[in-house]
Amino acid sequence: MAECKAAVVTGPSEPIAIWDVPVPPLEAGALLVRIDASTLCGTDVHRWKGDLADHGEPFITGHEPCGYVEEVAGEKVDLLGAPVRRGDRIVWSYVSCGHCYWCTVALQPCVCPGRMSWGHNPADRPPYLLGSCAEYMYVPPACQIVHVPEEVSSASAAAAACAYRTVMHGFDRLGALKSHETVAIQGSGPIGIFAAAVARDHGAKQVLVIGAPEHRLEVARRMGADATLDIDTVDDPDRRVEWVKDRTEGRGADVVLQAAGNAAVPEGLRMLRAGGRYVNIGAGGTGLLSVDTLPQEMSLFTVRSGEPRHWLQALDFLASRQGTYPFEELISRTYGLSEINEAMRAMAELEVIKAVIDPTR
Ligand SMILES: [Zn+2]
Ligand SMILES: [Zn+2]
Repeated sequence: MAECKAAVVTGPSEPIAIWDVPVPPLEAGALLVRIDASTLCGTDVHRWKGDLADHGEPFITGHEPCGYVEEVAGEKVDLLGAPVRRGDRIVWSYVSCGHCYWCTVALQPCVCPGRMSWGHNPADRPPYLLGSCAEYMYVPPACQIVHVPEEVSSASAAAAACAYRTVMHGFDRLGALKSHETVAIQGSGPIGIFAAAVARDHGAKQVLVIGAPEHRLEVARRMGADATLDIDTVDDPDRRVEWVKDRTEGRGADVVLQAAGNAAVPEGLRMLRAGGRYVNIGAGGTGLLSVDTLPQEMSLFTVRSGEPRHWLQALDFLASRQGTYPFEELISRTYGLSEINEAMRAMAELEVIKAVIDPTR
């Protein structure tokens, strides 16, 4: 196979084009994967619109892939040491450089300056296939491979390759929840909704979700939220802060998790009790944030991406809690590769929670 089809962003907000992109030769330890599902993420929408600075067109959009191994160059094992063979269904981690201060001393590889991720890499230079909205993807040798459990759909596994593993990373940094604690989540996108299930599962007394639109909040309630607040109907931040305080005897939440973009931080800090923990996951948005004061003795955790173990943890959670939470409700609609523009529009307008691209359609 010399070429395959891929969805290529050629300029900010330009219609995404379907290109024939070269399939590169594999170096030792690399894989070629036939994509079965690629979920779209808010970040893909931002990159397509040109809001982020981390890309140069033309690039293949998409960074949440799940697929079947088509070809393995040499011997390869997964994160747990099991062999990786042609036909296996897998997801795979991003790559950190392994020899900088963050990789070797601080042991925080997610903030490695040399980190490699997908969905923004040049489509006109080898190894070409580093975006997931394509028929095939190239998996560099340094990626950690995680096999997808049989009971997890390819679409959910794809969402685990970014949104869900970032949530696992957030809870990892937060540490244990106690059974008397209230977790308030800002945002009802895939990250906020999945976080509701994890917070419930980790033993929170009460899980509150503040977001919109209502169809997402309904899913959040089925995924473990005890109560939700619709910001489309309650647009006054003071009333939203009151709503959290009313449910926590006036104190504010023990944990506030931001999954709505950086602009939500000042309001979220007001929802937090003195001594509480704030977990900042939603990365979108720039600009000056102003807060009057910080809660006393608060802790702040910020999260970027995930370490290879978080891919595994997200898949484990999906597989083992299959009967407890309706994960497939986050997967809204499936599109063929040629329908990428429609899928991107549906994501941008919050019509869907997760759009899935199935390049085999
Ligand atoms: Zn993402
Ligand atoms: Zn590094």
